[in-house]
Amino acid sequence: MSRRKRIGLFVAFPEMVHVRRIVEGITRQCHKYDYDLCVFSSSTHLSFPHENYVRGESNIYEMANLDELDGVILDYSTVTGDPGDLVLKRLMKRLSQYPDLPVCSLEIPIEGTKLIENDNEASLREMCRHVIEVHGRKKLCILTGHQGNPVSEERLSIFMDEIEKHGLSVLPEHVIYGDFWYFSGDALARKIVNGEISRPDAILCASDCMAIGLMDRLSKHDVKVPEDIVVMGFDSTDEGAINPITLTSFDPGDVAMGADAVDYVRSKMEPGAELLPVEKNAKMQFRPGASCGCQTDPVYAMRTFRNSLYVSSYNHADEDYAEQVSVGALMESYALEGFTASKTAEECVKNIFNYADLLKPYQNFYLCLKENWLDMDDERYEGYPENMRIYVASTQVGEESYYGEGEAISFKTSEMIPKLGQDRGEASAFYFSPVHFDGVLLGYAVLQRTLQKHKVPNVVYRNWLRYINNALEMTRSKERLQTLSVRDEMTGAYNRRGMYEKYREMLAASREDDALFVSVIDMDGLKYVNDTFGHGEGDLGIKTVCAALFAVAKEREICVRSGGDEFFLVGIGQYSREEEAARARAFTAEISKRSEILNKPYNVSASIGCAVFENCRQVSLDNALSEADERMYRYKVRNRRHRSV
Ligand code: GH3
Ligand code: MG
Repeated sequence: MSRRKRIGLFVAFPEMVHVRRIVEGITRQCHKYDYDLCVFSSSTHLSFPHENYVRGESNIYEMANLDELDGVILDYSTVTGDPGDLVLKRLMKRLSQYPDLPVCSLEIPIEGTKLIENDNEASLREMCRHVIEVHGRKKLCILTGHQGNPVSEERLSIFMDEIEKHGLSVLPEHVIYGDFWYFSGDALARKIVNGEISRPDAILCASDCMAIGLMDRLSKHDVKVPEDIVVMGFDSTDEGAINPITLTSFDPGDVAMGADAVDYVRSKMEPGAELLPVEKNAKMQFRPGASCGCQTDPVYAMRTFRNSLYVSSYNHADEDYAEQVSVGALMESYALEGFTASKTAEECVKNIFNYADLLKPYQNFYLCLKENWLDMDDERYEGYPENMRIYVASTQVGEESYYGEGEAISFKTSEMIPKLGQDRGEASAFYFSPVHFDGVLLGYAVLQRTLQKHKVPNVVYRNWLRYINNALEMTRSKERLQTLSVRDEMTGAYNRRGMYEKYREMLAASREDDALFVSVIDMDGLKYVNDTFGHGEGDLGIKTVCAALFAVAKEREICVRSGGDEFFLVGIGQYSREEEAARARAFTAEISKRSEILNKPYNVSASIGCAVFENCRQVSLDNALSEADERMYRYKVRNRRHRSV
C-alpha cells in the first residue's frame, strides 16, 4: 500500500488572522482527502527586529525534507521580510531542485510555482459599489499599499475602474500610497485635517490597519466617521470588528484560498481525483460596520470580542470548547518558574513533559533535541545534525509517553519525525516549530493534531515554546557551571571539590562490607621536563599520566587531579589487599606503554601508592589518602635511587 499523501505548508507567524484563515481552509480540505499536513513555521514574523532570534526561528524551513513531501503550499507574504529575503531565496533554490513536486504560491506570483489567489477583485468592486450606491458618496479617496507593490497597484486599479464605471472620478490628490500599516492611515488623516488635501466624503482603505489608524486620528480632530467621512477597510481583522466605531470591511476569503491551494496540489498529485466543494462561508464576506453607517452585526462583533479576550484571560469563547486557548491557564500554571527551577537536564525535560498538558488539544507532542544539546561549545545556527533525539513524547491518543535521557529515541533528522509515514487510521497535521536559544540550534518541537481541528497552534504554544527555549538554555548553563566547579579543565578529572561530592554519593550507596580503595599518583621529574623542554611539554606529561590513570580505573572509580602533578584514584566496592600491588603494576605498565608511544626525548613516568581498607565506613577518606601518599612517596624514593644508579 502506498503511503498517505503529504502536503507541506511554509508560513510564518501562525497567529495572524491571514494565516489562521488559510490554515483553516487547508486543514478542511486535507481532512476531506485524508492527506497529512506538515506545517513549517517560524513563530514570529521574519522582519522581527531581534536578528538572532529570527535566525533561529527561520532555520525550521531548512529542516523540512522535500523528499518526504508530495506537494508544497508557500505563503509568500509571511515567509518574507528578513534582510535580503534570504529565507525565501534559500527555500526557492531548494524547491527548484524538485521540478516534479507540485508547488503553489498564495497571492504573490513566483516563477515556477502555481499562483493561487482569492477573489479580491469582487470584494474591492463591492466596496466601491456599497459606498456609492448605498451611502451616496461621490468624493472618494483611495488609500492603497506601497507604490510599485503589485498587490497595492492591483487594488488601486480595480478601485479606479469601478469608480469610473459609476460615472465618478477620483482627484489625483486622493490617490494615496501607504504601507498597509496604521501609520499611513494616521498620515492621511493629518493631511486632511491640515488642509493639505481637500476633504473627501469617503476613504477606501486597502487594509484594516490603515483604516483604524485613519479613524483614530480623525476622531482626535473631531472629524466624524461616518457622518463626515465614510471609512472602509479590507481584510476583516478582529481589531476592526471590535473597534469603538466598528469597521466595515471585507473578509477576502483566505479560507477558500487555502482550500484552493490543496485542490491544486491534489490535481497534480492525483490527476483526475474528485475535488470536493469548499464550505460556503469560506468565501469572501462583507462585514458591515458603523464606519460606513451600516448596522454592525452584533453577534459577529461580540463573538470576535470574546475570541480575542484570550490574550488576557481565560477563554471559553469558542464554540468548540476543546479548542479553547487559555493564556490564563498558561500564566496560572507557573510553568515558567517550574521550567527554570530545574536543577538538572533530567529534571528540565521532566518538567517539560509535565507541562505539555497546557498544549491541549493535541494527539502527540514531541520535543526533539540535538544529541549533544548540553554541549555549550556547539554553536550551530544553521541546518541540523544528521540525527535527533526525542527527549519528550506526550500522547493523548496512544501509550507512547516518556521523557528523559534514558528513554530518548534517536532518529534520522531526514525522517522529520519517526512514524510520520505510519498508517494512523486518519490523517493528521504536524506543526514543526524551532527550538533554539538566541539562534543557537537546540532542536525542534512537533505538535501533531487531528485535521478536524482547524486552528493553528496559537499564542499559548508560542509562549510555551519560548519558556522551553529559555529553560533548556538555563539547564545547559547550570550543567556547564556544575561541570566547571567539580572538574579540572586540563585533564577532565575531578578536582578535590568534585572528589568529596562524588565520594559522599559513593559512600551513601555503599554496602556495609564494601572496602575502600585509594591510590595516590605523582608524576616523576616534572620540574625537569618543565625546565628543559618547556611548560607545554610538562602539560603533556600531566595529561599522559591522567590518561593512563583513566585507562586503569574501573567502573565506578573516580579519577581526581588533586593539584599540580598529583592524582587520586578512589573506589568503593569488593576489593582485596591484592588489588594494591596489581593496580600499581597495571598503572606502571600503562604509563610506560604510553611514554613509548609518545617517543619524546624524556620519559613520562609516575609513582603510585595504593591502599585498601576493609571497611569503607570505618576509615576517613583523608586518612586513607595519607596512607597511600606515604606508600607513593616510599616508592618514588626507591625508584629515584634506582634511576640514579
Ligand atoms: P618528583 O619527581 O619528586 O615528583 O619531582 P617533580 O619534578 O615532579 O616535582 P614535584 O612533584 O615536587 O612538583 C611538581 C612541579 O610541577 C611543580 C610545578 O612547578 C609543576 N607544575 C605544577 N602544576 C603544573 C602544570 O599544570 N603544568 C606544568 N607544566 N607544570 C606544573
Ligand atoms: Mg612530581
